[in-house]
Amino acid sequence: MSTAKKLCALGSHRVLEPLGVLPQVAHRLDATPAAHANEILCDVEALNIDSASFRQIVEASDGDVERVRAHVLALVAERGKHHNPVTGSGGMFVGRVREIGAALAARSDLRPGDRIASLVSLTLTPLRIDAIERIDLATGRIWIRGTAVLFETGPYARLPDDLPDDVALAVLDVAGAPAQVRRLAEPGETVAVLGADGKSGILSCVAARARVGPSGRVVGFGPDPDTAGARLLVEAGYVDAFVRADARDVFAILAELPEALPDLADVTVNCVNVPGTELSSILMTKDHGTVYFFSMSTSFTAAALGAEGVAKDVTMIVGNGYAKDHAATALQTLRDHPPLLRYFLAKYGATAVAVTPVSAQV
Ligand code: NAP
Repeated sequence: MSTAKKLCALGSHRVLEPLGVLPQVAHRLDATPAAHANEILCDVEALNIDSASFRQIVEASDGDVERVRAHVLALVAERGKHHNPVTGSGGMFVGRVREIGAALAARSDLRPGDRIASLVSLTLTPLRIDAIERIDLATGRIWIRGTAVLFETGPYARLPDDLPDDVALAVLDVAGAPAQVRRLAEPGETVAVLGADGKSGILSCVAARARVGPSGRVVGFGPDPDTAGARLLVEAGYVDAFVRADARDVFAILAELPEALPDLADVTVNCVNVPGTELSSILMTKDHGTVYFFSMSTSFTAAALGAEGVAKDVTMIVGNGYAKDHAATALQTLRDHPPLLRYFLAKYGATAVAVTPVSAQV
């Protein structure tokens, strides 16, 4: 693709509005399906919409799949990317490389035809949707025909041969969480995970269990201890206890602490997909402990002012979704833990999920 614009490694040449910002901050991107010299153009097969974003879209659509479809199409048509203005979050895509820009061809390890998952948010990925083929309301997966552009700085992962795409996509979406837990927790410590039976929550519990060892303690919190995910955590020993609790209800959480976390947590990991859980996370953490806010529903002001208001001296970490080697490590975790693999295959494997066909095209 020839262009009069100066090409930028960070993709600012794709910004249409407002000018002078990077793609993540921009309101609208140019999603023209052709690769500039420093870009990789992909045919997209599926989107994995960020859980907080998808939940918000489904609620705003009253759970109606046709309205979800219309919402996603309108959002991407307007912005040239899947960037939910309410949650500020996006997701990721899986697809096949169609074209590699001339300046990248020699140094990229990719070739046209390779299948990859983007490890960069859809909030900054130029995206065009030609048709939505299926939507799975249970997992936030949307199968589409369309194109996306990766910038030269954008990380990606080759899809593994030994795991179904849908399972790999589910794991790769949240691979940053277990990677950070591995860094933050120390042997013998206590780790609390809110939203423990979701994708990132389960992987965080598994990472925490491995890191704190038998002398440490891992406690999961979630609304329902009877979900398949909660049962997996308890039965496989990834948590010492799973506590039924609504993380938005700070008094309910406080009532559980004497039994569930008598000395509070050294590290608290927030993996919920709803807003309003900052104070619960802070209050269940020891002074000088760490709260890792992986959730995209986290409010910086609620966390900062909330901790100050209750005089809690905790370190709070924003959930960077990227960590070196996070993708390969997360996929390997699945291979190393057969019960975990069985759970992900049952919940996210394409043959296992109930999908809703959507026939209409744009
Ligand atoms: P998920 O699989 O949908 O899991 C969300 C979990 O939160 C579920 O277990 C859910 O339980 C639980 N939950 C919902 N309401 C709750 C409440 N009131 N109290 C306690 N738990 C509650 O989501 P995910 O894909 O793991 O993502 C989790 C969060 O990480 C989301 O906010 C997502 O946006 C964010 N995320 C961040 C990054 C990053 O780079 N930082 C990347 C990907 C995702 P039920 O199923 O019973 O409702």
